[in-house]
Amino acid sequence: MRVTVVGSGYVGTTLAACLADAGHDVTAVDIDPDVVAAINDGRAAIHEPGLDDLLAEHAGDRLRATTEYDGVPDADVTFLAIGTPSRADGSIDLGPLSAAAEMTGEAISTATETAEPTAADRHLVVVKSTITPPGVGEIREALLAGAGDAADRVELATNPEFLREGTAVDDFRHPDKLVFGTDSDWAVDRLEALYEPLLVATDADVPVVRTDPETAVMIKYANNAFLAAKISLANDLGNVCKRFGIDAYEVMDAVGLDDRIGAQFLRSGVGWGGSCFPKDVDAIRSAAREAGYEPPMLEAAVAVNDSQPERMLELLDSHVDVAGERVAVLGLAFKPGTDDIRNSRAIPIIEGLQARGAEVVGYDPVATDTMRERFPDVAYADSAAAALDDARAALVVTDWDEFAALGDAFDAMAEPVVIDGRRVIERRDGLTYEGLTW
Ligand code: NAD
Repeated sequence: MRVTVVGSGYVGTTLAACLADAGHDVTAVDIDPDVVAAINDGRAAIHEPGLDDLLAEHAGDRLRATTEYDGVPDADVTFLAIGTPSRADGSIDLGPLSAAAEMTGEAISTATETAEPTAADRHLVVVKSTITPPGVGEIREALLAGAGDAADRVELATNPEFLREGTAVDDFRHPDKLVFGTDSDWAVDRLEALYEPLLVATDADVPVVRTDPETAVMIKYANNAFLAAKISLANDLGNVCKRFGIDAYEVMDAVGLDDRIGAQFLRSGVGWGGSCFPKDVDAIRSAAREAGYEPPMLEAAVAVNDSQPERMLELLDSHVDVAGERVAVLGLAFKPGTDDIRNSRAIPIIEGLQARGAEVVGYDPVATDTMRERFPDVAYADSAAAALDDARAALVVTDWDEFAALGDAFDAMAEPVVIDGRRVIERRDGLTYEGLTW
């Protein structure tokens, strides 16, 4: 099939590369010429394991990138994978996605219409971005306004994405479920035909949930809100454990044996960040509030998450006054495997250290450049060991595997105080070591 993917960020580039790998003919669109040049060069503008290999294999062959919407008129399916960030009040900003939907509609209106249009002449536009239920109508309106007289040839569906940064390629190829939000059998057939080669190639037996467009996007919010709240509950209980001198991990390992609960997302620590949980929980809270309901569980999930970095800093305060001292922050990305620092817990940690007058030195295997743009006044080390050199204290914020093996590197600190927000440090001897919830 001919597929156009509009928006080539974490989701769009993964989608474009995996669909090309599954045999489709893919055009990736982005307004950023650097992103487009990178893809045409066979590499991703972002760090995502496995993505560069796929781009190197298919760029210039089944995959091309462009800043124009010229692939849209001939496409069997056009995906919209544009960012849907939060406004200052937490509500969803649909501006960039609406603009892309309108441009997609305009591009469709330039397609030559056959004398007697058949189903094959219809254009399927699929919203991959995460949007609120009321947002579906707004995007449909923008798309149809752009399409003008061609509006009756356009079909809008939603198909939320559940991949995780750091394992995006693998997640996309092995999804737990596919959610098709459309009232049209024709659109379902086309989506099934699109995904089929991908699922056949990976031998994945994937349940398909077919529903209306608004329910489909709500499934995505409910999914993320549930996971975010699960972590916050684990953190809340972890804070209780710490008060009693109990190891929260021992508790949660046992709790996770209950089939009704499951073992995942019970690792307590400094909290969730990234581009999805914070903005998605904010967006659905805000949309609910606008519809006349304040969701107290979601408010609590955010409140617990917001307080974890301060708890980590208070633990540090209980051991050392860091004013004028060098303090290492190990891990800047919001989680391992990505260079994404959006809403990383390292941000409030660095701000808190700076407010205490500490001299901060950060280290991350891949996210240093992006964090340098956010905090140009912070020093950045080339290795974790270099960050620890002469530091008075270290705060572990991201659970990169390499931190587990630091061992002797802590000997470069005079009286090492280590506050671990992710339970990743294995060495405890000779350190003043504090786990956040253990
Ligand atoms: P991103 O910010 O990484 O990428 C968005 C891209 O769209 C950017 O490269 C930007 O230059 C481009 N863009 C903006 N306006 C454009 C326009 N008019 N035309 C063409 N390109 C344009 O975003 P992302 O992380 O890939 O997320 C995209 C959507 O998918 C969001 O709604 C997000 O919530 C959702 N999502 C993200 C993830 C994730 O892990 N990142 C997972 C599931 C769902």
